[in-house]
Amino acid sequence: MEFAKLNIMPEILKALKEEAYINPTDIQSQAIPLILQGNDILGSAQTGTGKTAAFAVPILQLLSETKVHERGIKALILTPTRELAIQIYESFKNYGKYTRIRSVAVYGGVSQKPQEAALRRGVDVLIATPGRLMDLMNQKIISLKNVQILTLDEADRMLDMGFIHDVRRIISSVPEQRQTLFFSATLPPIVAEIAGRILKDPVKVDVIPDQLAVELIDQSLYYVEKADKRALLLHLLKDTDMESVLVFSRTKYGADRIVKELRRNGIDALAIHGDKSQGARQTALSDFKKGKIRVLVATDIAARGLDINDLSHVINFDLPEISESYVHRIGRTGRAGKFGKAISFCTSDEKKLLSSIERLCGNTVTVVSGHPFEPLFAKSSQKIEGRARVKDFSIGRRRS
Ligand code: AMP
Repeated sequence: MEFAKLNIMPEILKALKEEAYINPTDIQSQAIPLILQGNDILGSAQTGTGKTAAFAVPILQLLSETKVHERGIKALILTPTRELAIQIYESFKNYGKYTRIRSVAVYGGVSQKPQEAALRRGVDVLIATPGRLMDLMNQKIISLKNVQILTLDEADRMLDMGFIHDVRRIISSVPEQRQTLFFSATLPPIVAEIAGRILKDPVKVDVIPDQLAVELIDQSLYYVEKADKRALLLHLLKDTDMESVLVFSRTKYGADRIVKELRRNGIDALAIHGDKSQGARQTALSDFKKGKIRVLVATDIAARGLDINDLSHVINFDLPEISESYVHRIGRTGRAGKFGKAISFCTSDEKKLLSSIERLCGNTVTVVSGHPFEPLFAKSSQKIEGRARVKDFSIGRRRS
């Protein structure tokens, strides 16, 4: 199916064409017509499935179709992280560049002044993280009384990250008479409860994630002592095929230490985590995307939902505590039909985490033996040769 069949207005179609979007992704072909018809949506989709355009395109169109056009926040998109707010803002700007709709993003970690100035210039769509939005509401700089469409993006993550009180207050400041769009990768009880209260006769949109991305990822595992992890990382980075490497650290402190060690050894690296200033986070991400730095070291929170192209390798310096994060992390490589590699380090303490990841994925990950930092405890572990495949688990990711 082509976008043109979805009754999208020419101004937006033209912009989508310039983005080289020819065919809508699953979530787009399902959600766009439903949203255009005014339905509330309970969408189950992860970042990477084309979800942003699935709500941005119909929102831009619905707001463009109103006859009388006065500025004021008519659509509010709540999202958990600053980077996602910026990413969504950029999507609105791109898809809406031939419409008269103006979008503004507000998020914490940076001065409020430029955001205030942007709001004063006029806004139709506001993309916000909850904390900064609450600040601006408390200062009476923002009013939500004209909001017609409310979107909660990454709802499970958002509620997970302790925003629940802010989110409830924000929702109660938006008129009851509105259209509500709710996107969440999973539906834990808290999300289902909030969804049940705020959505009216929602239409459920489920995207069955395609398996392509994960099947294209070559996964391997290195057993290692904790004290040798950084040395092992340096050893692996001698491989020049590792052009662009995203390293996951469990802690912010750990991420900083990894970066220090890499830089000491002449490898360009930056960290991205919750304690970094927003400016530093943006610089790190854009330098990494542009290929100015070879390694980006991230914690799960900072890396969530980021859309990074051309990532050759993901390294789990520490295995994630939550098994699902493993699939989300490795799904950042192997995109757009490219072959990606995911390498995980595992200490004897992390074997429990490995077992639950393998249980979740329904397979075992290839263990690399004979490397210079192979610990004694690994000698007793079973070695499996060959390429690991994830058959029954997938992450939603769709690109043309
Ligand atoms: P999202 O899930 O919104 O973060 O989108 C993931 C990636 O898919 C982004 O890089 C988008 O630019 C891209 N994308 C979204 N929709 C399409 C489409 N219909 N065709 C091609 N690429 C798309």
